Amino acid sequence: MKSSKEFLMENNLLPLKTYDVQSRSEKGLIHKVEYFGDGSLSCDCIAGCFKAPCYHKKLISEALQKQGVYTKSGISSLSK
Ligand SMILES: [Zn+2]
Repeated sequence: MKSSKEFLMENNLLPLKTYDVQSRSEKGLIHKVEYFGDGSLSCDCIAGCFKAPCYHKKLISEALQKQGVYTKSGISSLSK
């Protein structure tokens, strides 16, 4: 029997990991970037709330890709 948490993770309703990213514009402000099992990232900043690409997701996406972790395309293309 799986726990409800595992169920949520498998259905990408709950992030596998959460990362703290320092805001560039506001000192001391931390944005939470969440990594989901389908490779998508979400961020709690204003852009992220609208599912738009943002610096925080880009940063985490690049870090994950360096580790060989799959992330959905569209975020990393920001850097090009
Ligand atoms: Zn963001």
